Amino acid sequence: MIDFALRGNKVLTPTGIRQAVVLVKDGRIADVLSELPAGFDADVIEIQDSVLMPGIIDPHVHINEPGRTDWEGFDTATKAAIAGGVTTLIDMPLNASPVTTTADAFDQKLAATEGKLHTNCGFWGGLIPGNTSEIEKLIAKGVLGFKAFLTHSGIDEFPNVMEADLRKAMPIIARHGLPLLVHCELSTNEKLATGDVRSYANYLSSRPGVWEDNAIALILRLCEEYNCRTHIVHLSSASSIEPIADAKRRGLPLTVETGQHYLFFNAETIPDGQTQFKCAPPIREKENNDRLWAALREGIIDFVATDHSPAPPDLKQMKSGNFMTAWGGIASLQLSLPVLWTAARQRGFGVAEIAGWLSEKPAQLAGVSTRKGTIETGYDADLVVWNPEKSFTVLADQLYHKHKMTPYLNEELYGVIEQTYLGGVPVFSHGSITQLNAGKRMLKERE
Ligand SMILES: [Zn+2]
Repeated sequence: MIDFALRGNKVLTPTGIRQAVVLVKDGRIADVLSELPAGFDADVIEIQDSVLMPGIIDPHVHINEPGRTDWEGFDTATKAAIAGGVTTLIDMPLNASPVTTTADAFDQKLAATEGKLHTNCGFWGGLIPGNTSEIEKLIAKGVLGFKAFLTHSGIDEFPNVMEADLRKAMPIIARHGLPLLVHCELSTNEKLATGDVRSYANYLSSRPGVWEDNAIALILRLCEEYNCRTHIVHLSSASSIEPIADAKRRGLPLTVETGQHYLFFNAETIPDGQTQFKCAPPIREKENNDRLWAALREGIIDFVATDHSPAPPDLKQMKSGNFMTAWGGIASLQLSLPVLWTAARQRGFGVAEIAGWLSEKPAQLAGVSTRKGTIETGYDADLVVWNPEKSFTVLADQLYHKHKMTPYLNEELYGVIEQTYLGGVPVFSHGSITQLNAGKRMLKERE
């Protein structure tokens, strides 16, 4: 009665990497065995020395639909996802138009996904000043949590919250046990960079680490006061690692992500005028980034998410190279695993750490860890098969993102995605998408 089996030498199970057979039935993992059962007569897919891992869960993706589909959209982003082994993503409440800050906007968001979901997709609601009364309506509609900014978001209709707004919202969010995701930069000193607008060093100095450190200090205080699950998105400033570690030691309900680009690039080697590297908070110096790696190793940083946030070339100021006016955001959804693996393998990490950072831990944030993020009996058969020894050069024509510019173009990366399974359905195989529209909406189930 089994639909098919995947057999390989490097299957990532909760007890480590081992030779195993994964049986799939009705979209779920029916069993994980050391050998094929006697008399097994369904198909066996042999993956030999490729890695079989739970599909990637990326909880930080800006799809921008409806309203800004010239930036990115569900069709292109979710194709990029399955080509990159991403079997679940969670869409951010901006930069779509309308932003997902009301129940009505959420209905429009869901309508926009119709016929365009090629991977599983959940949704964060947005928290802005004045929308406290929408929080429970959004929860009832199925958002998995909320996202807020402490500095200008880049989108005028998604203004940042102040401490008073958080004090109203956090008790409500905490009561429902959902996480509040916070973009932690607090622009206390309005020190605008002067001089060469194409200079990366100038851009970097315009968003110093202290912006993050001040925001994180505030957020740790409120997290403790309200006992509200709090998640710091894209940590870049290493000087916040110690306060975060201290808060975790004290048992605060706190999680932290960083982004691939903070681990892969260093400020010292970013050329002036190359605005595809612009993001906020910015990519900092090597010494800082080495400390992010150490925090990841120690579990102070829980996981890694892309913050895929593309924009059209003119908004990225690709011609002028003006870092000050360029849209901040890096397109990278499809490259999540190879970028992280390429940087991690040089530092002696293994495949098990990659699976923890890209699947298991993000599943916990999104509240789907009883169904996704590990290869165990009863879990969804969302799986990725990839070759850690093989490398490739990133070329624009391999990317499914709407806009092909990304700082990873022409990089040689290790980790080739060979197959992606969504609920047991093969959706990507050896360079081609094999099944569209197999993605499901992941709405928080209300009890
Ligand atoms: Zn973001």
